[in-house]
Amino acid sequence: MLQQRSRRRHLSAKHSATNAFRELAAGLAEAGRAFYARGWVLGTSGNFSAIVAREPLRLAITSSGMDKGALTATQFLEIDENLNILRGSGEPSAEALLHLALVRARGAGAVLHTHSVWSTILSESFAGQGGLPISGYEMLKGLASVASHKHREWLPILENSQDMPDLARQLEAILQRYPGSHGFLLRGHGLYTWGDNLSEARRHVEILEFLLEVVGRACGSARGNAAAV
Ligand SMILES: [Zn+2]
Repeated sequence: MLQQRSRRRHLSAKHSATNAFRELAAGLAEAGRAFYARGWVLGTSGNFSAIVAREPLRLAITSSGMDKGALTATQFLEIDENLNILRGSGEPSAEALLHLALVRARGAGAVLHTHSVWSTILSESFAGQGGLPISGYEMLKGLASVASHKHREWLPILENSQDMPDLARQLEAILQRYPGSHGFLLRGHGLYTWGDNLSEARRHVEILEFLLEVVGRACGSARGNAAAV
């Protein structure tokens, strides 16, 4: 009898983990298609993840090489903290190590990564300064715990690399150095941001992509005006 009860409990826990995974995968796929429509994750670029369980750690993450304009919930994997695949087919993105670093260092519930035009351009232009400062814009208030347009957001910029274990170590150091940052840029590559849950992470992508475009366009028109003088 006791055995039966514990088996039932085990099955129902498994069932709710499956439901949680499916729900998160559907939400992430929907976010991916919306980002594609905005031109932020063209082709197979970008990757998205969300926490299914923290103890032990289980992450729903995009399978590598999927076209983001046609992303579906079936194109997600469930992985553990050692990148073992527990559910789904395909391979996790090489950048999964960065997602795991953010989950550990920031307690993120979801991590979203885009390859937009403005994050690509600005991460090159500001690479020499090691980061991009953004302040004075009302839209900053869309970032968690930001109450004023006077907030100064600092988006650190990391050199791009294909050596993910090394990049993940560099990221951990940067996250410690800038505990207030809501995202970071990879040089010539794109934006990473996160949130306590998927809806907060999605809001952060929208806010930061808006701000990057504003800063980029403002830099462009300032240069244009200087050239016209
Ligand atoms: Zn990328």
